Amino acid sequence: MAEHIIKFEKLGDVLYTTSMITLSQKLNLIEACFGKYYVSGDGKNSSIVCPFCKAKGKATSKKKLSINIETGVYHCWVCESKGRNIGSAAFKFSSNRVNAKKLSEAYGGFKKAVEEIIEEHVLLPEDFKLLTNLNNRGSKKYKYHISYLKDRGLTTEDLHKFCIGVSDTYEYKNSVIFPSHDVAGNLNYFISRSINKKSYRRYKNCSVSRKEIIFRQFNLDFKKELILVEGVFDLINAPINSTCILGSWLNEDYLLFREIVKNKTPVVLCLDPDARKKSMEIMKLLNSYCVPARLSLHNNKDFGDMNKDEIQYFINNAKPFDFAQSVRYLISNINSGSMF
Ligand SMILES: [Zn+2]
Repeated sequence: MAEHIIKFEKLGDVLYTTSMITLSQKLNLIEACFGKYYVSGDGKNSSIVCPFCKAKGKATSKKKLSINIETGVYHCWVCESKGRNIGSAAFKFSSNRVNAKKLSEAYGGFKKAVEEIIEEHVLLPEDFKLLTNLNNRGSKKYKYHISYLKDRGLTTEDLHKFCIGVSDTYEYKNSVIFPSHDVAGNLNYFISRSINKKSYRRYKNCSVSRKEIIFRQFNLDFKKELILVEGVFDLINAPINSTCILGSWLNEDYLLFREIVKNKTPVVLCLDPDARKKSMEIMKLLNSYCVPARLSLHNNKDFGDMNKDEIQYFINNAKPFDFAQSVRYLISNINSGSMF
């Protein structure tokens, strides 16, 4: 392939790189990065097998990701992933680094493509079924899924409230799936829990980073006191305006943290007792942003193992951050030797 010519234009103080490259050269680069393409009748768009769909386990040979050959703007008709420079998708998915770089340069620049925020959409498994929508046959088929949840104390109402579902796909067939939706009601995340006690991986998160989402955000009011728990099961008996942080850490890197700071949302931190040291750190951090925070001091059970009354008791008795208390806590841990 002929090397494309790169022309530098000085515009104000900014140096722009514009590449002069023909449509057929662009198509060659697309093929080098993503494999075979198809060109639309009018010759303006090319389509490829969507790498985002592929990464989400949607086995398909249909070319559903459409690229404007001239501008590089792309969009998938199945998963709705989109962006301004197809080179950014090449960076994410193609093993052909040299051509991924050339492709991104062809559409406005290497640096821009690397930094581009790709609008990616979360997809539930195609055959996702809500447990509360199953007919008699379905209820029999998924009886182990249902009894797993009942054993963990979930009622039919909980299954409904948390939109818990199942799938027969290889990855999720022995799991229950908890979807999460953003403020607009769009799916923003899901997490699955294996119902098999021997499973080496109990939880599976979807491909989106948990830092970038707020679990069940549609359900939350940041103007009111917000309860923070660790995992989805801790959320079941928690009162309204609770969310889980899907782990035991929270800081400025998390959208949830930034939303709390922005709204000065009063917070009650209710992580598991074994995460007390991390809880102290988070309390300190919230305090440094002038967020009114209280810490639940439950020390025997996780919220996931408590009933609604027990949880309410600990929330009511949660204590505000107190520097002296945190020092006492650290000293008592140093003395008991469990600090490091
Ligand atoms: Zn797609």
